[in-house]
Parts: sequence; C-alpha cells; structure tokens
Amino acid sequence: MKKSLWVAVLLLAGVLFSASGVGNAGLKNYQCRKCALLVRSENVPPAMGCRADEGGHLWQELGPVGAMNYQCMKCRVNVESRWEPNVQGCPASGNHQWNRLGKIGPVNHQCRKCGLTVRTEETPNPIGCPNGGNHQWYKSK
Ligand SMILES: [Zn+2]
Ligand SMILES: [Zn+2]
Ligand SMILES: [Zn+2]
Repeated sequence: MKKSLWVAVLLLAGVLFSASGVGNAGLKNYQCRKCALLVRSENVPPAMGCRADEGGHLWQELGPVGAMNYQCMKCRVNVESRWEPNVQGCPASGNHQWNRLGKIGPVNHQCRKCGLTVRTEETPNPIGCPNGGNHQWYKSK
C-alpha cells in the first residue's frame, strides 16, 4: 500500500517536471517587427515600451531557443535558435535572410566589419556579412 502510493507520487512529480519545461525547453525567441528588439519568453511578451511605435511592440515569434547562432543579413539580429528561425516579419523589410553562424560555445568572436559578437565553439561561418562580402572574425574578450 505504502509502496504504491510512493510510485504514484513519483509519477506525478515526473509529469509536473516535464510539463514545467527543463532548462530552455519552453523558451521562444520573439522579435518586434517595428523596433527589432529580441527577447526570450515562454509566451508573447507585453506590448508596452516600443521605441519605434507608441502603440507598442508588434511581436513575431521566431521559434524555440536553442544552441545554434543565426544572423539575419537584413536586420542584423543574432538569434540563438534550435533550428533556422521563422523567416516572417523582418523589421528591415519583407522576410528575414538567415545565415547559420555556428554552434554556441565559450569563445567570443567579433566581426571587424559589422561589429557583431557571437559566442561559438569554432570560428563562425564567414558568409553573409550585413556590411557586404564576408564577415572578418577575430577572437574578442
Ligand atoms: Zn518594438
Ligand atoms: Zn531580419
Ligand atoms: Zn560581419
């Protein structure tokens, strides 16, 4: 009797644990289509406080937070995403144009041309610098 009760408690705890989301599992990237601000949230963030529009942010969901860096060549946002982010709603115009820069790691790399800093394991992909041609990456602090 006592043993079966414990099993029930453990099962319930397991269900609650998985429902609450482990680590970043429930987090998504949201970007405002007007001011280009990027935030991580489990739900659509509040509209208040947009720098580009008194009417508030217009949030576009980009997909789940993950271990890969993607940069849009047009609006220059860098997103840590599980897979290629949603193309819809680039603040610059039309659709985002994503370039996969590399897996998240402990080393900061900065581009001499566009100034972007990304945390990666290895030298990020050079293709698609927003300032034209290839990124020129160096290790920064
Ligand atoms: Zn905004
Ligand atoms: Zn974009
Ligand atoms: Zn660059």
